[in-house]
Amino acid sequence: MKPLLYLFTLLLAGCATQEQHPPLTDLPPTILERDGTEWFQYWEIPEGDYLWQTEDLGQVDALQAYRDSVKVDLGGAFTNYLDAQAVQHPVSDTVLIPAGIHPDSLLAAKQGDGDRYNYDIIHYKQVGEVRPINYLEAQILNYQLTRYPLFSHPTEFHGFILENDSLNLVRVYYAASDAPWPPKPRPVVAAVEQDLQQGWQLIIHLHNHYEPAEDGYLGTMAPSMSDAQYFKGLTERFQVQAAHVTNGFHTIVLPPETFEEFAAYQ
Ligand SMILES: [Zn+2]
Repeated sequence: MKPLLYLFTLLLAGCATQEQHPPLTDLPPTILERDGTEWFQYWEIPEGDYLWQTEDLGQVDALQAYRDSVKVDLGGAFTNYLDAQAVQHPVSDTVLIPAGIHPDSLLAAKQGDGDRYNYDIIHYKQVGEVRPINYLEAQILNYQLTRYPLFSHPTEFHGFILENDSLNLVRVYYAASDAPWPPKPRPVVAAVEQDLQQGWQLIIHLHNHYEPAEDGYLGTMAPSMSDAQYFKGLTERFQVQAAHVTNGFHTIVLPPETFEEFAAYQ
């Protein structure tokens, strides 16, 4: 194929992809319940590789605005904050482990500050995987940020992502409000329970983390002790296949076999 014609074909393919996969904000959700600012709903979308890739996040203007604001506000320190959450150091590279934190002492740390311990085993013992945010995660977070901008009005959402192999569909359940913490997702949990009886599988629980401005905005890429407790419950009740936490730049991916490693409330 001639180079120009090839380029033209590529451009056409790009447009077709956008039309084929409109952003989540353009898709009408099925509403389970709305109680003031507490919204419980889901979207059903075709399964496809585009959902899981990290190269093209689609139209996510609210998320992009947040990312731009964080970069501007942190200035030269931005990369340090980003790397502190994203980089998982090799265990053998003890030079990179800050004083007082050594893999051998992690168990002792578990008895003290559990949230810190959970961060340490991800970043210094390489439990789970931190990778760039993917398309579907970005779309869900962007939806919440169109309601409440993360930079000026930080909130957390609950996301339950289900897959039905025979229907080749994905369901994305969402529960969030205007509060810093997500509402108890009771209507979502009831719907998920029904879905599991009908050939759906809970492949991912997703939520987001952020930090206040004085701590550099970027949410911790690790489960809190409450998260770890919650994830264990999701395994027992729904056989969740992974727990993801995103901060809008990166996502920590945790398979169920890692859940037991984290400090958790009982
Ligand atoms: Zn959390």
